[in-house]
Amino acid sequence: MQGAKTAKQTKYRTVLLFGAPGSGKGTQGKILGTIPGLFHFACGDAFRNLRITDPLGRLFIEYSSKGELVPDEPTIDLWRRNIEASTINHTFDPRHDMLVLDGIPRNVPQARILRGTLDVKAVFHLTCPDMTKMVDRLQRRALRENRLDDANLDIIRQRLETYQRETKPVLDFYGPKIVHPIDSSQTPLNVLRNILDILATLQPGA
Ligand code: ADP
Repeated sequence: MQGAKTAKQTKYRTVLLFGAPGSGKGTQGKILGTIPGLFHFACGDAFRNLRITDPLGRLFIEYSSKGELVPDEPTIDLWRRNIEASTINHTFDPRHDMLVLDGIPRNVPQARILRGTLDVKAVFHLTCPDMTKMVDRLQRRALRENRLDDANLDIIRQRLETYQRETKPVLDFYGPKIVHPIDSSQTPLNVLRNILDILATLQPGA
């Protein structure tokens, strides 16, 4: 009984930013993370912050440079370590803050592993039917953020394939009731407005 109670207390109120590479999740996540009561975690950023001397940093380079996902177990470990560290240093208050996750869970096995930990209230599915627009965004980002995995067209194609094959099924895992499609070909401001409209209904007391 005590164990069940503890497990329930550790479930984080969560929303997911979801979409293919180049759909604009990162841009929205950064803005949302500045809003009091929201805590943003981008899994790709956590990987990029690792040192090259860290074995997980090397694993990340190995997989991301091929456009593939890093194996689940070390990925979930990295996520947990980051969230726990943010809780300890008080940048994240699980009792009051909503977790905004970008890039995790990124396949169905990860969603299963996190089922007992996340209380997912909404999935914002940023959709962009215009493939060339997404590829264009990625290539511009390659220069701006010095990202090797954005620079090469073959790797971009591989990442888009990985998204279709492994990541998209996560939408079915959470189901249509909480998945909100958002047209990411709009301006960032309008994408943000769509997200905020839904988020506002999820605030306690709304
Ligand atoms: P994007 O969504 O633009 O492709 P990210 O910054 O989210 O880029 O991720 C970059 C790379 O980091 C991915 O291609 C993958 O190799 C790795 N990665 C990020 N998040 C995860 C995750 N949850 N599981 C496995 N690999 C991940």
